[in-house]
Amino acid sequence: MSVLVRIAPSPTGLLHVGNIRTALMNWLFARRTGGKFMLRLDDTDRERSQQSYADAIERDLKWMGLTWDLFARQSDRFSRYAEALEDLKKKGRAYPCFETQEELALKRRSQLGRGLPPVYDRAALKLSPDEITTKQKSGLKPHWRFRLSDEKVSWSDHVQGNKEFPAGSLSDPVLVREDGMPLYTFSSVVDDADFAVTHVIRGEDHVANTAVQVEIWKALGAPVPHFAHLPLVILASGEELSKRLGSMSVAGLRDEMGVEALALASLLARSGTSDAIEAAENMQELAERFDFKKIGRAPPKFDEHELLRLNARVLHRMGFAEAKPRLEALGLKNVDEKFWGAVRPNLHRLNEAKDWWHITEEKISPQIEDSAFTAQAAGLLPPEPWDQTTWQAWTEKVKAATARKGKELFMPLRLALTARHDGPEMKTLLPLIGFSRARARLCGDAA
Ligand code: GLU
Repeated sequence: MSVLVRIAPSPTGLLHVGNIRTALMNWLFARRTGGKFMLRLDDTDRERSQQSYADAIERDLKWMGLTWDLFARQSDRFSRYAEALEDLKKKGRAYPCFETQEELALKRRSQLGRGLPPVYDRAALKLSPDEITTKQKSGLKPHWRFRLSDEKVSWSDHVQGNKEFPAGSLSDPVLVREDGMPLYTFSSVVDDADFAVTHVIRGEDHVANTAVQVEIWKALGAPVPHFAHLPLVILASGEELSKRLGSMSVAGLRDEMGVEALALASLLARSGTSDAIEAAENMQELAERFDFKKIGRAPPKFDEHELLRLNARVLHRMGFAEAKPRLEALGLKNVDEKFWGAVRPNLHRLNEAKDWWHITEEKISPQIEDSAFTAQAAGLLPPEPWDQTTWQAWTEKVKAATARKGKELFMPLRLALTARHDGPEMKTLLPLIGFSRARARLCGDAA
């Protein structure tokens, strides 16, 4: 069997860490099995769907490396949902209902008041053909419900094991609204059936949907796919993600927090699994290690500190060829491998390289406490060319001339040369700063 999986975001907002994790797990499974990955935009809700969100979803997925082999949008497929509804009507599995939202709410309240589950009472199934015609003639438009069978629904879930919903525990779901708009429960199955999706991998908030959807697949005469329902991501604080969705968007993590795609993918692929949370070398490595058996039932934690740790690791391993265009995009012109080699071990976020570029290439105001000392050190600077041995040779001389050592010796020099207390090793920075700038800074001049 060749695998086809899909993610089906609604373009009504930005992707957040929860839904990109679902996308990632689908993609990894597809790569692991040599299958295909599909992006489907669930954009039937025309009021809330926006092209700008659709564009952002595509951008975020591509950024993470989650390229898709197939693409569809539900708004192109309304005629298919209408056909599928006709099919279900003919099979006696779709029936018209005329209750208003208020009437339904009232029914639910009264059931709950009597200690009963708020399951739809199928009153509309009892309408005679004449009653239906009369209602329609009076201008009432029906919504359409799917008649569930009277059997229990069960499936074997790749993450949750055996799932079972007893007969009668679920409401007949609405397939199509009064205004003709198909609802997700229905359109999703029509699509999954038409495209022959083999595995539906999604959040466990969809478990009850799955129960009714299994019956819709069967009624449409389509093979029921495999399912894997993933525990939902929570924040390290234990807070539910939904509380802070705004700040947990993929775009925000990338553009404001400076997160590397591979760091985010490593965290999301591995938290909540039996694998240790380490930065992967590449997406292929994550795919090779993907296995449903490793996914636990406990919610994966999204820990920003962990993410930054992985981010640093990814940057520390990044080759110059990969870094160069990104550094150029940050405005660093003519950046070379020496610069990258010098600053890379110190980065937690790529854009911190800008600060070091500023220090090695642009004018800064040195920080000087003892100007006699730094001026004396300036006089001892050897002539260029400089390399990684220059710092040690020079500071040995300064040490001999001033009798300073350790922090007393090094910190004033670092502060004068970089105006910062910490940073990359001075032996790599000094040659980048160069003789004339170094001398000027040691003498207290902005240079
Ligand atoms: N549009 C649905 C959602 O974003 C898709 C769920 C599914 O994967 O079936 O929740």
